[in-house]
Amino acid sequence: MESPTSHLPFVPANSDLPVAPVGPAASTTESYYNGRVPSNRRKPVQNPAISRRELLRTSAVSIATLCCEQSAFSQANAVVPDFALLLTGARVMDPAKGLDRTADVAIGAGKIAAIAPSIAPERAARVIPVRGCLLTPGLIDIHVHGFRGVSHAGVELDTYCIGRGVTTAVDAGTSGADSFAGFRRHVIAPASTRVLAFLNISRIGLISPLGELVDRRMIDREAALRACREHADAIVGIKVRCTHFYSGPNDLEAVQAARAVGEAIGKPLMVHTGWPHTPFERLLEELRAGDIVTHAFRGAGEGGVIGPNGRVSPAVRRAAKRGVLFDVGHGSGSFSFQAVEAALREDFPPSSISSDIHASSVLGPVFDMVTTMSKLLMLGLPLASVIERSTALPARSIQRGHLLGSLEPGRAADITVLQLVSGEFEMTDSKRQVRTATRKLVPILALRDGKAALE
Ligand SMILES: [Zn+2]
Repeated sequence: MESPTSHLPFVPANSDLPVAPVGPAASTTESYYNGRVPSNRRKPVQNPAISRRELLRTSAVSIATLCCEQSAFSQANAVVPDFALLLTGARVMDPAKGLDRTADVAIGAGKIAAIAPSIAPERAARVIPVRGCLLTPGLIDIHVHGFRGVSHAGVELDTYCIGRGVTTAVDAGTSGADSFAGFRRHVIAPASTRVLAFLNISRIGLISPLGELVDRRMIDREAALRACREHADAIVGIKVRCTHFYSGPNDLEAVQAARAVGEAIGKPLMVHTGWPHTPFERLLEELRAGDIVTHAFRGAGEGGVIGPNGRVSPAVRRAAKRGVLFDVGHGSGSFSFQAVEAALREDFPPSSISSDIHASSVLGPVFDMVTTMSKLLMLGLPLASVIERSTALPARSIQRGHLLGSLEPGRAADITVLQLVSGEFEMTDSKRQVRTATRKLVPILALRDGKAALE
């Protein structure tokens, strides 16, 4: 979507805007910029397109700030730039708006200010050329595990999320009602990544590898409901793990409890599947439109999308028809190249791509979200589809489609810049099957609210 630059709101300059590259190696960025360092100290330039009167009329800055700016005008004969930051020349892909074209993207006051074929660099306090890159809405990974030091599964989210191009990470039930206040204080609040969460229906969450649901007394719908109401801004749904060694025989009861809580708060369930005690087809009967099955693309007959015969199971088709979503949730044991290929052959792509980074997957085979996206690309999912399933669709599945997952001007400037590089790249699934990809996505820059979080 494009905006006419002549109708842009005035945006106060922010010369202190931190902008730093992200990605596995600084050399990637250096080679991208060809040794040219983008200037953050541009000479003040008179912009004839916007008069001072217009600036003052459209500005939202305070009187005090205006006085300072008036002084600056008279002293330096300069105008305040319209934008804090301008990213120029990327292939801008915003599947939510059907946008896929070369464009410049302007950012001000932490929001997307404009997208247009060409925006004069003089209008921005800082310009970063990103020609040759993909610029997308900030990536959204709806299955991660934080709470390092409390949960055996937890990892440092900033390192593996915004540090690897993911601007919004949704914790998948690492904490339950007993620990959510701590999760909020110690994980959500200090994170540079935008962190949201599914609350575990087990009040203890993932604090022990022995299984959070093997004792059915841990299913506490009243405690879960209280936590959901107290932290309504951070909790996007209820998580249940249905695997016999985590839930014993209690998986169906846990799903039904989660169903009741989810209905009370109007939010979806995220159901982890894989070797459940209760047959997967029976568990699916409990799920409704908007509920999410994660780890869905696991080996044939393990309780995912692909049944024992190697085909998409009829129960899965029925569930998808009524609006149940099937998410990747790669993880250390839940992602099969063969399953994805079988599903794609039957035109059954994942509803969303997610990594399931946790302590035992983040150093391989998962690594991060962009590596997971690269695997889907390798398996035949078109690039636009990969981006959509990592931006617009996960945003919608956590009921944030109106806030996240698009570059629409006026929204928070959550932006990811990627490079699609060619070569030979070894990719491994959870079955330790190895394939060679010829393309790979590499994160270059990630902005949350217009700011790069990692310096
Ligand atoms: Zn998980």
